[in-house]
Amino acid sequence: MKFENLTQIYISELQEQRSAEEQLIQALPKMAEMAHDAGLGAALQEHLRETRGQLDRLDEILARHGAEPRAHTDRSMETILGEAGKWAMMIDDPEPRDAGIIASAQRVEHYEIAVYGTLACWAGQLGLAEDADALLAILEEEKSADEKLSELAKREVNPQAAA
Ligand code: FE
Ligand code: ZN
Ligand code: FE
Repeated sequence: MKFENLTQIYISELQEQRSAEEQLIQALPKMAEMAHDAGLGAALQEHLRETRGQLDRLDEILARHGAEPRAHTDRSMETILGEAGKWAMMIDDPEPRDAGIIASAQRVEHYEIAVYGTLACWAGQLGLAEDADALLAILEEEKSADEKLSELAKREVNPQAAA
């Protein structure tokens, strides 16, 4: 398939990110269940709730453009999550494993921040103000999820893992 303009690339990237969020809705409960630290489990559950809302908003945007929501599978997210799962299985001690779960979760958030940054920028460039607003709101959720994980790691999880 060849793309002919920015709108087509934009729609395709929205479809990719919809797939990424769908994969996260499967993965986050498993990560939360594996978490030993109660604060980490709660943070992952909270972001699961946000992620479901993000998927709904992507569906709304795709519906406005008459685009098929399930046109793509995001292979990048598949790989990131596959590595996260493999790595978690390699650590038996719960405290260092929590530090590893946070590292994997932050890798996911940074990837999403990159994607939504681009999508919001393109939406603005294409004059799609309603899309841009929704995408910027999601971008802020991803950034704050990342910051919460950093806080939790520094304050609680890493000191326990290092002890
Ligand atoms: Fe997300
Ligand atoms: Zn694709
Ligand atoms: Fe996220």
